[in-house]
Amino acid sequence: MSDIAYLNGEFMKLAEATVSVEDRGFQFGDGVYEVIRVYDMTPHLLREHIDRLKFSATSIHLDEWLSYDEWEKIVQEGISQSGYAEAKVYIQLTRGVAPRDHRFPCTTSLTRVMTVREVEPDDLQLRKTGVSVITAQDIRWNRCDIKSLNLLPNILAKQQAIQAGMFEALFVREGFVFEGSSSTVMVVSNGVLYTPAEGPRILSGITRDWVLSVARASEIKVVEEPVSVEMMLDAQEVLLTGTIIEIMPVVKVDEYCIGDGKPGKIYHRLYQKFLSSISELRYRHVCT
Ligand code: PMP
Repeated sequence: MSDIAYLNGEFMKLAEATVSVEDRGFQFGDGVYEVIRVYDMTPHLLREHIDRLKFSATSIHLDEWLSYDEWEKIVQEGISQSGYAEAKVYIQLTRGVAPRDHRFPCTTSLTRVMTVREVEPDDLQLRKTGVSVITAQDIRWNRCDIKSLNLLPNILAKQQAIQAGMFEALFVREGFVFEGSSSTVMVVSNGVLYTPAEGPRILSGITRDWVLSVARASEIKVVEEPVSVEMMLDAQEVLLTGTIIEIMPVVKVDEYCIGDGKPGKIYHRLYQKFLSSISELRYRHVCT
């Protein structure tokens, strides 16, 4: 078993993959990416991830012509070459290699990178205790719906959280919370699940979508509207969602305790549903 890379049509060991210093991804962050979780060798919600990759690419005028079927083949081949059953797949598209110039190059073709790495086992202790987060000022641009390589504000906010001994930083602007540095935020107030509506201020999380549809199917009322910081601090529960963290309960925001300081009922319900859908996936894999 080993970490695998795919670079412009070829598979290799991750350690052997190199990209030019003139790649626009390196020079300008001129590209987009996706992260996909693999459960038991099966990429989870692959179609949704590839659709979002294409949306991000189109939004920055990157001509990504590989079809879903072609991507599926590449992803499956990468997973099987790696041999990892539990893995994370990272896909990156950039505007290719060209002499450094802000203008788009005329002839360059894009760089396609994919890596497959093993995922560390889930930290069960965190799920039991819940996590603490900080709030950070949202200084990002107005196209957070594009999964762009430009992650400086996210990295700075996450580092601020880590240095404070916290799990995540939540972006706040003008009294409203939008999302985490690498996660979606949801709050439970009087049994209703609130989360900011999709739009240019947040990434349209694939896990967000999954959680909201499962919540609706479980007769949990879902409201997609702006969430004020005040409302979050008064909430019974705060949740983070994301491809790698799945669903994570938050028990403290800055110095304020959330609810009774323990992961709440809605978290447990939704996470149980998540686990059973994953075990169904594993079961289907065994049976096919
Ligand atoms: N927002 C941001 C800024 C993120 O980086 C992520 C992680 N990809 C998310 C939300 C959650 O999105 P998803 O559920 O698609 O992983």
